[in-house]
Amino acid sequence: MFSSQSRFNLAFAAALIEGRIRPHFQPIVSLADQSITGFEVLARWFDEDQGSISPSVFVEYADRGGMLDDLLDLLMREAFKAAQQWPGHITLAFNVSPTQLRDCNLATRLHDAAIELGFSPSNVNIEITEASMLEDASLSTINKMRSLGCAISLDDFGTGYSSLTWLRTLPFSTVKIDTSFVRAMTGQKESRKIVTAVVGLGQSLGFSVIAEGVETTEQQELLTRIGCSSAQGHLFGRAVPAAEVLPMLAAAQPAPQGAHSRTRMSRDNLTYQASSLYQSSEILVLFVDNDLNIVNTGAGLYRFSEADPMRFKGHHISALPPAFAILIEELRAMDGVDENATASRVVTSHANERYSIIAQVVLDEMKDPIGYSIFGCPIETSTAPERRLYAVDR
Ligand code: C2E
Ligand code: CA
Ligand code: CA
Repeated sequence: MFSSQSRFNLAFAAALIEGRIRPHFQPIVSLADQSITGFEVLARWFDEDQGSISPSVFVEYADRGGMLDDLLDLLMREAFKAAQQWPGHITLAFNVSPTQLRDCNLATRLHDAAIELGFSPSNVNIEITEASMLEDASLSTINKMRSLGCAISLDDFGTGYSSLTWLRTLPFSTVKIDTSFVRAMTGQKESRKIVTAVVGLGQSLGFSVIAEGVETTEQQELLTRIGCSSAQGHLFGRAVPAAEVLPMLAAAQPAPQGAHSRTRMSRDNLTYQASSLYQSSEILVLFVDNDLNIVNTGAGLYRFSEADPMRFKGHHISALPPAFAILIEELRAMDGVDENATASRVVTSHANERYSIIAQVVLDEMKDPIGYSIFGCPIETSTAPERRLYAVDR
């Protein structure tokens, strides 16, 4: 596109001075209520002859010509100035190349520009790619930016080296899952599992996850079910000039929330809650896979079977009284897969206690059945009204 690096340098320098390169702002939204939490600042070059030139064309040239610092300075100043009109909670994310990160003055330049133009450094997000982490010099710049209050995001996660060690050792506050995963996720189980795992890691290690390139409501719904906190993509808005940000903010009023979504539990909390059920000596909990093999059992199976619950793991459900297998046959006989469908029975334990057991299908994020949950509790220890209820049932 450009005949030589020196021609590019001249054209780029002129465009910067003449104001033909401007920041555009792409919204980043919270998936919980679709409110805009911030914007990624993306460079746009408008050329009289060539029209709008994409950063994917010019960033590499500008990097080779050592001109990305001039670009970043311009984008930062214009963005911070524009943000003076915006609500104070709005964050701004800037892309920084691995070359730029080698310069340890970058952190102070960024911090000073924010302070001078009244933008809080803690609302600044620096997006870096995995390639940056291969160099020691970058690490000290990253740490300096952190100490000055800026947040660090790992951009395009999944396209580079994707070492999980980096997620653990580096001070990321956000991981941005690359478009390619988001695109593949609705059709490919493997991509879905990877996105789910990264979201789970984020909840355990304390970073937030932004899914990039979200274009369809199907992707949005799946990400919400997985527990991903934020998203960016054409579904929520393209990158717009500064003048269009306030109207965009006004149009994106948070969606009204039901009591249920406000109290949505994290995956970790759900896991803790489920594991407390598994530890109960009173409640019978079993998970069997689609082939009816027992994958997991809780401590409550001891009281029911008077045998070590671990003994049943990996065995077919027929190792338990026939009522268990019958329950699942009843569920399977129901039309289609309904996550709310249940089958229940009364079964007698090894010690002649009567148990009420109930089975339900377990679906993954794509509503594919992955097995069955069975819960049970001894009727004898239930309350008087429950006893009456079961007496009638029999
Ligand atoms: P990126 O950091 O991954 O930025 C996201 C890119 O995806 C942007 O392309 C954005 O317009 C595009 N995008 C956003 N939502 C969607 C979507 O739903 N579908 C599709 N198909 N694309 C979407 P853009 O603006 O062309 O930027 C390309 C890349 O150039 C950026 O990728 C970033 O790596 C780089 N870049 C952009 N501005 C700057 C800058 O100021 N400095 C540096 N160093 N790099 C920049
Ligand atoms: Ca980016
Ligand atoms: Ca990206």
